[in-house]
Amino acid sequence: MTELLIALRETLGEKGVLEGEAVRSRQSSYWHRQPMQAQAILRPANSLELSACLRLCHAAGQAVIPLGGNTGLAEATASTAEHMMLSLERMQRIEAVDEVGRTMTVEAGAILQTVQERAAEAGLLFPVDLGARGSCTIGGMLATNAGGFSVMRYGMMRERVLGLEAVLADGTVISSLAGYLKNNTGYDLKQLFVGSEGTLGVISRAVLRLEELPTARTTAMIAVRSFDQMTALLKHLDRTANGALCAFEVMWNEFFLLNTGAHSEHSSPFAEAWPFYVLVEWQGSDEADLRQRFEQALGAAFEEDLLADAVIAQSLNEREALWAIREATEPEERYFGKTQGFDVSLAIRDMDAFVGRLQSDLAELDAHARLLVFGHLADGNLHLTVGMHEPWPSHEQVEQVVYGCVQAFAGAVSAEHGIGLEKKAWLPISRQPAELDLMRLLKRTLDPRGILNPGKIFDL
Ligand SMILES: Cc1cc2nc3c(=O)[nH]c(=O)nc-3n(C[C@H](O)[C@H](O)[C@H](O)COP(=O)(O)OP(=O)(O)OC[C@H]3O[C@@H](n4cnc5c(N)ncnc54)[C@H](O)[C@@H]3O)c2cc1C
Repeated sequence: MTELLIALRETLGEKGVLEGEAVRSRQSSYWHRQPMQAQAILRPANSLELSACLRLCHAAGQAVIPLGGNTGLAEATASTAEHMMLSLERMQRIEAVDEVGRTMTVEAGAILQTVQERAAEAGLLFPVDLGARGSCTIGGMLATNAGGFSVMRYGMMRERVLGLEAVLADGTVISSLAGYLKNNTGYDLKQLFVGSEGTLGVISRAVLRLEELPTARTTAMIAVRSFDQMTALLKHLDRTANGALCAFEVMWNEFFLLNTGAHSEHSSPFAEAWPFYVLVEWQGSDEADLRQRFEQALGAAFEEDLLADAVIAQSLNEREALWAIREATEPEERYFGKTQGFDVSLAIRDMDAFVGRLQSDLAELDAHARLLVFGHLADGNLHLTVGMHEPWPSHEQVEQVVYGCVQAFAGAVSAEHGIGLEKKAWLPISRQPAELDLMRLLKRTLDPRGILNPGKIFDL
């Protein structure tokens, strides 16, 4: 055992350092089932231990990879046998819920679902929600600035954090846990760590901003004839919702047909096929009032020719069945030999032309490739899946085509999943050289020995 590991064991105790099979028995990332590679998994039990452990690693020049639930989708926790993983799994405490101030103070290893449930017990809502809710942590979500289904109403993690404690590479604790909404006392340091993917500091605690818990929700699947009709529908529903519009999830027909067809256990609520579908949800506090206003809004949309057909969920089961169509990933896994996923941002007005051009560019590369498109229209965020059968083009060829289109439309190569290793080569498409220089300067200033998640986002 190295001197550093001995010192780490003394600092963190037996439970605080895992080695050998305890490391290899874990999966390396969400996408890759290979065993995790690392010298050890360090598991501090509180901020003091976290700080002490980073101080030791810093002195030894030991590279460390912060680890939450390992559900990130951009290979930002990828490691080699030389790295040490720094897991927050023993720091999951919910420290306080302030019902008046509508805040929750948590340790960064707290699991999203636990936070949501604890907020609900107090009649409050933690509104960032995503499919990985059972495993992803608040620290990981902050470090990736996660978004999810209700960003149009509640914002991303950046908007949901009022206070933050982070530990710098050398062990310095930067603590700003006051949790006021307004705090213009110099630079907003907490935002530096949000979206930094574990490269600038390790988030140890946070004060989260909660909302009143909606007690009523009404959901519909809507079929539309054209992209322009869909954007007009968004404006109409937002205008009439009085702040109740929480989800406007769009699906291009190929995505919808696959998720409701022979390879899926879900079925379409419509008798015929349409070019686009939208899953819409309003949330509020009065079931009858919400439903009446929702039905009126949909009726008016129909009369103004903003939709072709609509099905409103009549029960919780029906609501879940509609959401299952949007969230299903198994059909694409069953149908295609290989898939490649992308998460991009674009101006809403460019989306239709972007998808059209991408379809034709992909057809030139591989006549049998299929493009599945869905996403959060109001956020300017599309998720793209390229589905292929053998013989398929290389990973890089597909990336070249997709990111070539993103560049042509001045889009962002990552909307909500981050850069990690996966999109590192494509970052210059979305950021200016001067911006990248400033990012590197910040990295060198906060982590001069380059021990925190080295090689992720960009090279120094
Ligand atoms: C099924 C599924 C659905 C998803 N849906 C969405 C979605 O709708 N919207 C969306 O935005 N994302 C989505 N994601 C991805 C999302 O980014 C992650 O689920 C989550 O934000 C990462 O949390 P984690 O705890 O798993 O972090 P990890 O995967 O462990 O880590 C992610 C990054 O954060 C860093 N990190 C982790 N903890 C800390 C910490 N305490 N301090 C500093 N750095 C840290 C890591 O080093 C790494 O760079 C989805 C993922 C899955 C698997």
